[in-house]
Amino acid sequence: MTMDKREIVMENASAAVRHDNEVARAHFLHNIAQMKNCSVLIRKRKDRHFESVYVSDAYARMVGAPAEETLAGLDGTGFVKSVHPEDRVYVRRMLKRRMSDDGGADLTLRIVTAERGYIWCNVNFSFIDDFGEQYIYCTYFDVTALKENEERLRTAYMSLGDSFYQMTDRTLAMFRVNLTKDRIEDIQGKDLYETDTLERSYSEVLELRRENYPIREEQDAFLGAFDRQRLIDIYLEGKTRLARYFFSRRMDGSLCFVEFSAVMTRHPMTADVIAFVTEQECNADKVDETLLDKIMARQFDMVAYLANGRYGVVVGDESLIDKGSIFPTSRNGIYRNYLENQVFPVLHGSEEKQQAVRRALDPETIVEQVKRREPYIVNIACDIEGETYHKRFDFYSINPQARFYILLKSDTTELHREQQARNRQLKEALAEAEQASVAKTAFLSRMSHEIRTPMNAIIGLDNIALQEPDLSDTMREYLDKIGSSARYLLTLINDILDMSRIESGRMTLRNEEFSFHNFLEQVNTLVDSQCRDRSLHYDCVIHGAVDEYYIGDDTKLKQVLINILGNAVKFTESPGTVSLSVERTAQFEGQSTLRFIIKDTGIGMDAAYIPKIFEAFSQEDDTNTSSYGGSGLGLAITKNIVEMMNGNIAVESEKGVGSTFTVDVTLKNAESAGRQDVDLRPQDLKVLIVDDDPVACSHAHIILEEIGVASDTCTSGKEAIELIRLSHARHEDYNLILVDWKMPEQDGLAVTKAIREILGDDMAIIILTAYNWSDIEEDATAAGADGFMSKPLFASNVLYEVQQALQKKQIAEEKEEEKIDLTGRRILLAEDMLINAEIMKQLLMMQGMEVEHAENGKLAVEAFASHPEGYFDAVLMDVRMPQMDGLEATEHIRALDREDAKRVPILAMTANAFDEDVQRSLQAGMDAHLTKPVEPEHLFDTLEVFIRKGGRNRARSDSSKVIFGNS
Ligand code: ADP
Repeated sequence: MTMDKREIVMENASAAVRHDNEVARAHFLHNIAQMKNCSVLIRKRKDRHFESVYVSDAYARMVGAPAEETLAGLDGTGFVKSVHPEDRVYVRRMLKRRMSDDGGADLTLRIVTAERGYIWCNVNFSFIDDFGEQYIYCTYFDVTALKENEERLRTAYMSLGDSFYQMTDRTLAMFRVNLTKDRIEDIQGKDLYETDTLERSYSEVLELRRENYPIREEQDAFLGAFDRQRLIDIYLEGKTRLARYFFSRRMDGSLCFVEFSAVMTRHPMTADVIAFVTEQECNADKVDETLLDKIMARQFDMVAYLANGRYGVVVGDESLIDKGSIFPTSRNGIYRNYLENQVFPVLHGSEEKQQAVRRALDPETIVEQVKRREPYIVNIACDIEGETYHKRFDFYSINPQARFYILLKSDTTELHREQQARNRQLKEALAEAEQASVAKTAFLSRMSHEIRTPMNAIIGLDNIALQEPDLSDTMREYLDKIGSSARYLLTLINDILDMSRIESGRMTLRNEEFSFHNFLEQVNTLVDSQCRDRSLHYDCVIHGAVDEYYIGDDTKLKQVLINILGNAVKFTESPGTVSLSVERTAQFEGQSTLRFIIKDTGIGMDAAYIPKIFEAFSQEDDTNTSSYGGSGLGLAITKNIVEMMNGNIAVESEKGVGSTFTVDVTLKNAESAGRQDVDLRPQDLKVLIVDDDPVACSHAHIILEEIGVASDTCTSGKEAIELIRLSHARHEDYNLILVDWKMPEQDGLAVTKAIREILGDDMAIIILTAYNWSDIEEDATAAGADGFMSKPLFASNVLYEVQQALQKKQIAEEKEEEKIDLTGRRILLAEDMLINAEIMKQLLMMQGMEVEHAENGKLAVEAFASHPEGYFDAVLMDVRMPQMDGLEATEHIRALDREDAKRVPILAMTANAFDEDVQRSLQAGMDAHLTKPVEPEHLFDTLEVFIRKGGRNRARSDSSKVIFGNS
């Protein structure tokens, strides 16, 4: 079949419209409209030569030659030659391949033209087999314009890339981003934060990179500015560049300034919006400049100059400043107007305060003040929209002659608020602390009572249990241990209480006359027995003269000495020595300074520990605690007490050698006190002192000399016996011999016996001197001793003892001292705690006493009143009781209108260890104060003393009041 060439053209023209490329399609339609048909039909002959069959006019026009000539030119190799030499290879290849498989092809290639050399065409090749005849039907579309445009775009794109997409050493990151597709097409750079990868969308990478900017507001600004859609939008509005500066953090944590910029364009082929994005570290100048601005802007919301009454804003951007900034409405203007219009109307506070601010900000004031000190600072507060803002104006002088100043305005509202919050917190904390301190003291005081009450039960029951006759040895040992542990616990509680009283300033000192002799005697008795328990040697010496009476707080002073001596005993191993020496070191204006030196030969202390020794809870070696015990409070309390007495305490110590504590305290002299009337005439006495310690001898000698008694001294029993023998032979017998009990070779007992052998029983008075004689009392009396005296000796005491001994000798066997018997005595016991009452009852009944129990003060008064006169021999009165306390009950009993009400002994019992309580109980009319837990021996002794006194005509003088405690 032979085809009409035109028909074929028409058919294939419509086939060529099936084209994918949208741009080409648009172009194609355009060309169609303009050029209608631009086609060629070629036949491939059997000899493989091409023969042109048809050429359209439009084609001929396109290549710029007459139609006939063009038709002929396409024969043979002409058809291929019509293609630009560079494109021929692939046209040939295509023809070879496609002819056989019957398909078609589309190629964009260059067609040679007469005029311009070549044009770009989009060529559609259709292969037609017409009963063995092979045809190629080609339609041409001129796409030169499109191609050129594309080329131009490509060049532009390339050059954009060339200029912006270039790494330099300041580049931190670089992306080519397809904004339209939200895709990163290329990444260059250091990827400092490991956020940049092609897998992530641009939006994701942006979001992650935000963290690189440490300033929060900048993070939001960054996201806002470089948002994908925003970049597209501004590109469509005709802007192609965007750059911003940010504060950024490097990996090493240091801060740098970066410029983040984007350049937008369209993709030459796809028309997608593309951005070349770079992040670069800024150069130093930019950093300085921007930093300065930022710093200024961060610290000051305005930097302005003042000159000749005018101001000019240098740094500051009102749009960036929050409300309440009182920023001037224009960047230049008259300073006074600015104040009048914007500052003064919003001032906060009273009229007076506002006036003060007006004066302070006045230009004249500024001139004056800046001369004095720079910066001149004015703080103001202003009310804006219902809120109070605080501002600070700093004025610096640039050129005083020209009245040129710099004004830095900053917002201190936050600072002010923080300050106020801090002040509030501090106030609250203070109130809390005060509250806590009050609570602590109250708590401790309460706990003391609460703890002592059960302790009382423990110790009391322990004592009762110990009275059981059939106790096994082990059981007795256990009970002893329970007792000593409980007593130890009590001392700890007392220490803690003392410390809390010192800390809260509640410790007070008494100012009372006391017998120094009795005072030392009590200390020595205690310490001597402790030393004997631990096989230590104890010495107490008085150097020089010490008064018999002083005024001060003897209980506290005793506590001081016993604390230090107790430590000396505790930290010294046998064989060792503990000694106490007393000396009056000064006397002035009716006062005496006494120095007590406590020495031991114990373990000593490290020099490094000594500075800490007086701290509460300090112990040199914590591990000592188990072997030595203690709370570490003793010396802290001691030092506090000494300091309250205006005294001083010092320590010297050497590890392994021993320690020396020196305590100085000043006491008031007691003028007329304590002079006892003695019938003895001192000059009649001839005295011999026997003591192996020469210091003790000479002390006794001095003491006796003071009262006009002459004495001889000797330092051994042997010597003494020699002297006595001699004087006896001369009929110049000693009538008083003082013998130290503890002496080497011959002790006091042996010497006494020997003397009695020489002198007989009636001659001379022998008095044994010792720190504590209770153990030897019986033996010594049997050996012939007439009395005992505690060392160190006191003049008045010597006379008193001698007088007593004389009296005793005279009324010798007249009658034995009436030993008071507690059997059958009736005791009224007022105690609210049932267990304590039970214990007391048991103890008293064991001694054969009758007990009536009242559960509170009121019942006690009623019980006393309801019994006949003289019924009760004594009242034991608990102090803290419900309904009516012991103090009140005592006052009630004393006030009863009956004879026995005034004289019945009333003994207070309290858990309160405080001195104030003792004072109060005595003031209320009680005779003595027993501290709970009450030791049975103390209790019985006290009852004996007071019942005996109460039975005789009892003089209610202060000196008859006795305080029995556990210490
Ligand atoms: P406590 O004896 O209850 O531990 P102190 O405050 O009385 O508390 O003493 C504190 C510490 O000082 C003791 O634990 C001990 O380490 C040291 N110390 C005190 N006196 C002596 C002493 N005479 N010899 C050696 N060490 C002592």
